[in-house]
Amino acid sequence: MSIFTKIKGLFTKESAGVTPQPAPVKAAASSKKNENIIEIKGITKVFDGVTVLDNLNLGIKRGQFVTLLGPSGCGKTTLLRLIAGFETPTEGEIFIEGVPITNIPPYKRPVNTVFQKYALFPHLNVFKNVAFGLKLKTVKDKNAKNGERKFTKEEIAQKVNRALKLVGLEDYGHRDVNSLSGGQQQRVAIARAIVCEPKVLLLDEPLGALDLKMRKEMQIELKKMHENLGITFIFVTHDQEEALTMSDVVVVLNDGSIQQIDRPKKIYDEPKNAFVADFIGESNIFSGVMEKDYVVSFLGKSLRCVDKGFEKNEKVDVVIRPEDIKIVDGAGTGHFDGEVLTTVFKGTYYEMIVLANNYEFTVQSQAEFRPGRIVSLEIVPDSIHIMKKILTINKYLGKVTGDGYVTFCDGEFEIPTDGFETGDEVVVYVPFDAVELTDDEEDGVIGAAVTQSLYKGTYYQVQVYTDTDEDFYIDTADEWDMDDRVGVKIDGAKVRLEKYDPEKDEEVAE
Ligand code: ATP
Repeated sequence: MSIFTKIKGLFTKESAGVTPQPAPVKAAASSKKNENIIEIKGITKVFDGVTVLDNLNLGIKRGQFVTLLGPSGCGKTTLLRLIAGFETPTEGEIFIEGVPITNIPPYKRPVNTVFQKYALFPHLNVFKNVAFGLKLKTVKDKNAKNGERKFTKEEIAQKVNRALKLVGLEDYGHRDVNSLSGGQQQRVAIARAIVCEPKVLLLDEPLGALDLKMRKEMQIELKKMHENLGITFIFVTHDQEEALTMSDVVVVLNDGSIQQIDRPKKIYDEPKNAFVADFIGESNIFSGVMEKDYVVSFLGKSLRCVDKGFEKNEKVDVVIRPEDIKIVDGAGTGHFDGEVLTTVFKGTYYEMIVLANNYEFTVQSQAEFRPGRIVSLEIVPDSIHIMKKILTINKYLGKVTGDGYVTFCDGEFEIPTDGFETGDEVVVYVPFDAVELTDDEEDGVIGAAVTQSLYKGTYYQVQVYTDTDEDFYIDTADEWDMDDRVGVKIDGAKVRLEKYDPEKDEEVAE
């Protein structure tokens, strides 16, 4: 079953014990539930000259289950480690309950972390693993010397047993941790993290090491624990389905920037841009043009949509979910006629690839159409999601290094420099179709790694990341694999240069 079908199920009916709608925040937290317990303000993190998080702003409400979701390397763990105090921001400030925490060491922050690798103490039994942190803690007591004392044995036993009960391991205190299954070990790790009663629990891919069945069970357990504890959970995952099923709020990250912050249903139904649409569930994505209010054209057709307020002829991304396309037998009735290329039964529906107007549409339907059948695809206005294009041209700060040569991104490119002099600082505008990728890195002017590839109806839009921390977007007929090393060449004749103006071009210099 595709992620989409499962997700769709979640929003329409109860499924497997997971509550489809955001869970109400419980008990103690409820009086302050609309207050932000964490404020992330202008956080930037740079490692070795590479910007991993770029000016992030995020407020997290008390008691919420918030998930940081994004592809590998987008900066999720770094953000969590900044909140935990294992990293320091390069810029910006994090506040917990209104208090700036940059200078507060990890153990003094009201947070605790559960890691993917449980890191339990192998020589201690379950009880002692959970009790470990409590033994180091002190509690305020006005009768004690210095006004503080350690927890008593009875207090520790009471707290440990309560934590073990919460994770469903009340009879396991005496067990050797090595004798437990992966899921049970992860529960011990969670008990160890919650026993000190943190206000915020940080979970860094805590289910990543579990097999699928155990993972599903633990998802339900974690959700229940969240409801029972009433504290804030910040959960990191790259698994879209996990994020959408478990969270009150999902924060989608890509390349160190927040793409969208919303409730799961809204993220699915109303993705803010083509990246979110592609990353969450399956999508047909096209490059289109808004002809006027309520009319968009793509793949050579004009269709009615429900969007307005774009510039006349503004370039947009058009997203259509596979289940929103109606497929009917024979040509002529719908908007696009085509031929079924493949049909796969997915348990409750058929997923078909239909070639129409040179585009391979993914269509899901209860009805089966065998390969070779001529069909017509119908798309109602409500199913067409229009998104602003995030970027329409690559833009860099460069320097004219000779007649016909401009240097930027650590490479010297051949570009006509008429009207400019050697040494001039220039803004270099490189259209997406002016970039060429080469298989062999050595054949390019500079080297880069492929970080994204989106099919947009008639071409692939590929994103590559250079060794100097710059992105290039390329429109190309070729498909490139993620993480491939490639060379980057440029057709200088298509490039436009403008004299650099520090006031006007502030952002390009950063
Ligand atoms: P994953 O899902 O693979 O864990 P992620 O989204 O959690 O990825 P991060 O672990 O936050 O990503 O890493 C973001 C980027 O920062 C990566 O390119 C990573 O190599 C880099 N990075 C993280 N920690 C460090 C470090 N201590 N020094 C240098 N680079 C780092």
